[in-house]
Amino acid sequence: MSKKIAVIGFGAAAIGFLWQFMDNEDYEIDVYEKAGNVMSSSLSGIRSDGKFIVSEEMGSDIYIPMSIQREALEIYKNSEYFVYDDVYMGFGNKEDYLMFYNAGFQPIRSEVIHIGTDQLKNVIPQIFEKIHEAKNIKFHFNEHIKEIKEGKTIHIFGYADRLYDYIVVAVGRSGYKLVDDIIKENDGLRHENEKQIVDIGVRFEMPDILVEDLNKRNYEWKVKKTNNQTGHGIRTFCYNPQGQVVSEIHNGFKTVNGHTYNDNSKKSNNTNFAILVSAEFTYPFQNPNQFGENIALISNQLAGGNKIMLQKLGDFLEYKRTKRIGRVKPTLPENEYTLCNINLAMPSQIRQSLVGFIEELGNVVPGIIQEDNLLYFSEVKFYGNKTQNKDGIYFIGDCSGNTRSIVHASSHGIMMAREILNSSIKNA
Ligand SMILES: Cc1cc2nc3c(=O)[nH]c(=O)nc-3n(C[C@H](O)[C@H](O)[C@H](O)COP(=O)(O)OP(=O)(O)OC[C@H]3O[C@@H](n4cnc5c(N)ncnc54)[C@H](O)[C@@H]3O)c2cc1C
Repeated sequence: MSKKIAVIGFGAAAIGFLWQFMDNEDYEIDVYEKAGNVMSSSLSGIRSDGKFIVSEEMGSDIYIPMSIQREALEIYKNSEYFVYDDVYMGFGNKEDYLMFYNAGFQPIRSEVIHIGTDQLKNVIPQIFEKIHEAKNIKFHFNEHIKEIKEGKTIHIFGYADRLYDYIVVAVGRSGYKLVDDIIKENDGLRHENEKQIVDIGVRFEMPDILVEDLNKRNYEWKVKKTNNQTGHGIRTFCYNPQGQVVSEIHNGFKTVNGHTYNDNSKKSNNTNFAILVSAEFTYPFQNPNQFGENIALISNQLAGGNKIMLQKLGDFLEYKRTKRIGRVKPTLPENEYTLCNINLAMPSQIRQSLVGFIEELGNVVPGIIQEDNLLYFSEVKFYGNKTQNKDGIYFIGDCSGNTRSIVHASSHGIMMAREILNSSIKNA
């Protein structure tokens, strides 16, 4: 008799997972996705930048071999829309590596393929169609899963409870509520000793011409460093050469993000990237995500309600409200930001870490410290609870707290699929 698997959520992790089971008649799989269709499910629906990053130095807190990451990448290449100019080698250039390393930064090596926000929206439906053709996999859209009970029944509005051999939770960060509930209801699924962290920082925007050569060689020049006074880890993240800054709507507040179109006519004259400070909390504070939400909410309120704070770097360093923009034109639409003083909303330790990092980065890349470069506040990266798998309940991708990128989430899906396939062989 075939085994029954429920996959909850259809994002990057589910793609990697399902690809391993296509047309394997030993398994019957139901995929439940809360979005109405594939175009509005996460990867097509978010304004993801369509960057595919293969790296052992970022994107995941667990070890994912490069061979599995490359396999994950190959899945997306099955779409005719997966077209790109080049494979960039982040810090493949020795001189760039040494320039940052000798200034005390840890350069992060990675291979980057950028297909762009516009292209990703075409790739995902094609990958979906291929999985959808498999006879053993059924998709159920508009199904927001609210509950998993012990004994592996899942509760779906409008259906009777269903029983499965395996439940694979692949709900990404947006599904944190379901993950929290499952962890509360079932002992042993929460990872002990997890750190209480939230990443808070700014989206930095500067003229592309100042970093054009560095971008061309590396695409992303991700670096990290620890601040000796505050103990914070600080990193650059999510580079968007000739990109756009965008706002991201959450439940009751807004943050910033960035992306780049593949289409040359939509490219801007600026480069944007995030600079994030990892704030770690100790007992008795247990809710770093709430801290991040509160900071974001205050920043929206100070910007006049539901808007993003924007300030020139020079004014930020001098604690002065920005009254007018200089040579760098913001790519975020004017109705979405207010010229402000970010210092009013940013905790002082986070500011100290951020300023130290920007100044040191400026020693390596002088264009960084131009006073009219722009800071958008806030950029916040929330972490999911770290989970453990138990009794046939598996967590894959970002909702497991272990991954943070498309390739790494898909790879995690591949690894979990193989674990299930191998355990079935052993138990046969
Ligand atoms: C704006 C933005 C841009 C990004 N750009 C990039 C990039 O360029 N490159 C990169 O590598 N990474 C990028 N990322 C990160 C990347 O998108 C994620 O790391 C990756 O998608 C995680 O995959 P996942 O399958 O774990 O979750 P997701 O891809 O988020 O998929 C989860 C799915 O579960 C569904 N779901 C949630 N809750 C439920 C529920 N209760 N019931 C049923 N369904 C549910 C959601 O609708 C969603 O479709 C970006 C993220 C954002 C927010």
